[in-house]
Amino acid sequence: MTEKHQGSCLCGSVKFELSGDFQSFFLCHCTRCQKDTGSAHAANLFARGSTLTWLQGESDVNTYNYPNSLHAKSFCQKCGSALPTRAESIDSIVVPAGSLDSSVPMTPTAKIFVGSCASWSMNLSNIPSYDKLP
Ligand SMILES: [Zn+2]
Ligand SMILES: [Zn+2]
Repeated sequence: MTEKHQGSCLCGSVKFELSGDFQSFFLCHCTRCQKDTGSAHAANLFARGSTLTWLQGESDVNTYNYPNSLHAKSFCQKCGSALPTRAESIDSIVVPAGSLDSSVPMTPTAKIFVGSCASWSMNLSNIPSYDKLP
C-alpha cells in the first residue's frame, strides 16, 4: 500500500502531499548543504517513483539549481522554508525531513559527505541540553 505524507512551510502558505514510500534518509554534511540549510547538514528523505502534489501555495514555491551539479533546493519564497524537490535524474522526490507535518516514518539511513563535516559539529554528544532556552 502506498503511503501518504503531508507537509508545509513555516508561514503556512505552502502545503503539499507526497504519495509514495521513502527508501532512504540521508544526513548530508557536504558544504553545499551547509550553505543551503545554514546548519551542519541537510536531512533529506528520498522517495523513488512517488507523486508530489502541491495542495496550496504552488506559486510561492521557488527552486534553486546549483550550476553544473545535482544540488537543488526548493523553498517558500515568503518564508524561506525548505520544501520537496523533484530530482528527475533519479526519478525521486527529495523531501526535507523538517518540512513534514506527518510523522517521519524512518530513522536516518546514513550520514554522507562526512569528510566535509563542519568542525563545530563533530563532538556534540557532551554539550549541555535544555528543554527550553536556558
Ligand atoms: Zn512559507
Ligand atoms: Zn549535501
